[in-house]
Amino acid sequence: MIDDVQDGHKVLVTGGAGFLGSHLCDRLIERGQDVLCVDNFYSGSRANVAHLFGHARFELLRHDVTFPLYVEVSRIFNLACPASPVHYQFDPVQTTKTSVHGAINMLGLAKRLSARILQASTSEVYGDPDVHPQPESYWGRVNPIGIRSCYNEGKRCAETLFFDYWRQHQVEIKVMRIFNTYGPRMHPSDGRVISNFVVQAIKGEPITIYGDGSQTRSFCYVDDMVDGMLRLMDSSADFTGPVNVGNPKEFTMMEVAELVLRLVGGKSKIVHKPLPADDPRQRMPDIDLAGKVLDWHPRVPLEEGLKETIAYFHKLFAS
Ligand code: NAD
Ligand code: UDP
Ligand code: UDP
Repeated sequence: MIDDVQDGHKVLVTGGAGFLGSHLCDRLIERGQDVLCVDNFYSGSRANVAHLFGHARFELLRHDVTFPLYVEVSRIFNLACPASPVHYQFDPVQTTKTSVHGAINMLGLAKRLSARILQASTSEVYGDPDVHPQPESYWGRVNPIGIRSCYNEGKRCAETLFFDYWRQHQVEIKVMRIFNTYGPRMHPSDGRVISNFVVQAIKGEPITIYGDGSQTRSFCYVDDMVDGMLRLMDSSADFTGPVNVGNPKEFTMMEVAELVLRLVGGKSKIVHKPLPADDPRQRMPDIDLAGKVLDWHPRVPLEEGLKETIAYFHKLFAS
C-alpha cells in the first residue's frame, strides 16, 4: 500500500513554522527531501525552525496562503491554520479565510503542478459528537454560527473543496482528520489544555479546569502524528481518506490535570473556570481505518509524551 519515498522532490509545508509543521519539516529533511516551508507567523514562529536555517535542503518563505502562491513542488502538506481556540478566535474572519481561500490556492497550485496534496483537517469537523468514538463515516454535529465555527466550518469547507478538486480536476488528495496532538514546541500561551496545564504547574500557578473537568479528549504525541502524516502522504494514489489519526486513549480533563501535577510536582492548586461555549463533551477517534490502510498505530502513551513536553517547557523557561 505504501509507495516509495520520492527522494529529492521538493515538498511544500504550509504552516511549517507552527507546532506540527516544524516537526514535519524536521522529519522530511531527515528523509533527504527538499523542504519549502511557508508561513505568515500568525501563530508559529521562526524560532520553531531556526535550527534548520542554513540547511542546504531547507527554505523558509514568509507568505499568507490566502494569497496565490506560485512555486514548483511535487508534494504539498497544507497545515496553515491556527489550531488553538485562543488563536483561531482572535481573528475569526482570517481563520475562515485561511482554511477556505488557503485551500483554494493550495489546490489550484496542486492542480497546475499535478502535485499530491494533503490537508490537515481536524476532529473538530465532528463538532460536539453524539456518536462515540467517532468513525470517519460520522457527519458530525456542528454549530454553524458559534465561536468555534470559523475553525470547524472552515475545515469542513476545506474538506469539501478537496473532494471537489479530486472529483472535478483529478487532483490527488489526502484528507487527514487530526485529533488533539501535543508535544515540544507547542506555544506556551496558546491556551491548549496540555500546554496550559504544564506551564501552570511549572510556574506554580493554579491549574485552570474549564467546567467540572469531566469532558474528555484523547491525546496523541507529535512524533506519532507526524508518522501518520507521512504514511498518509505516501499511501497509494487511490486512497483519499478522510482518515482519523489520533490516540484513542480517552482522558477527562481532571485526570490530565492530576497526571500533569504528579509529573511536574510543585504546589499548584486546581481551580475551575467557566466552560467555553460549544466545548465538545467528549472526543475519541475510531482509528481502525488508519490501522488497516496505513498500518499506523500510536506508540507513545500520554505519560511518556508528557515527560518530553515538560522537559521542553523547563528548558524554554530556563533559557
Ligand atoms: P500552529 O498554530 O502551531 O501552526 C499553524 C501554523 O500555520 C502557524 O505557524 C501559523 O503561523 C501558520 N498560519 C496560520 N495562518 C496562516 C496563513 N494564512 N498563511 C500562512 N501560514 C499561516 O498549529 P498546529 O497545532 O501546528 O496545527 C497545524 C495544523 O494541524 C492546522 O491546520 C490545524 O488545524 C491542524 N490540527 C492540529 C491539531 C492539534 O492538536 N495540534 C488538531 C487538529 C488539527
Ligand atoms: N493558484 C495558486 N498557484 C498556482 C495556481 C493557482 O496560488 O500555481 C491559485 C489561484 O489564486 C487560483 C486558485 O489557486 O485562483 C484556484 O486555482 P484554479 O486553477 O482552480 O482556479 P482559477 O485559476 O480558474 O481561479
Ligand atoms: N481546557 C481546560 N483548561 C485549560 C484549557 C482547556 O480545562 O486551561 C479544556 C477545554 O475546555 C476543553 C479541553 O480542555 O474541554 C481541550 O481543550 P483544547 O483547547 O486543548 O482543545 P480542543 O477543545 O480544541 O479539543
